[in-house]
Amino acid sequence: MTHDDCLFCKILAGDIPADIVFESETAIAFRDINPQAPTHVVIIPRQHIATINDIGVEDQPVVGSLFSAAREIAKKEGLSEEGYRVVMNCNAAAGQTVFHLHLHLLGGRGLGWPPG
Ligand code: 5GP
Ligand code: ZN
Repeated sequence: MTHDDCLFCKILAGDIPADIVFESETAIAFRDINPQAPTHVVIIPRQHIATINDIGVEDQPVVGSLFSAAREIAKKEGLSEEGYRVVMNCNAAAGQTVFHLHLHLLGGRGLGWPPG
């Protein structure tokens, strides 16, 4: 299901351009418009799911596929050995601004812990 007022559904539909780096049956990934690291890719399901709170049991294969995408993209970007981070923000306090589930893949620099 796509949502007319969802930015990432618009990217999926090709209505908003994006630098797409990965596509599968269940997910696509594109470079973040405001990168926080040398590699910053946003991985989204083709299916519109708003937040982690909205993930159903039936969505588990799709959500799992986001991590498979992360592994493949990290390999392509040469990050597998040095390391990278995947982050999924849920709702406002965690910094979620786009309410279509997405995994951030960050790498190419040292990443502090704990995150801000
Ligand atoms: P959130 O803050 O919801 O976890 O992450 C949303 C991300 O989407 C942000 O890192 C933001 O920079 C990115 N973003 C917002 N609008 C666009 C856009 O139009 N194109 C791309 N490529 N990224 C976007
Ligand atoms: Zn959407």
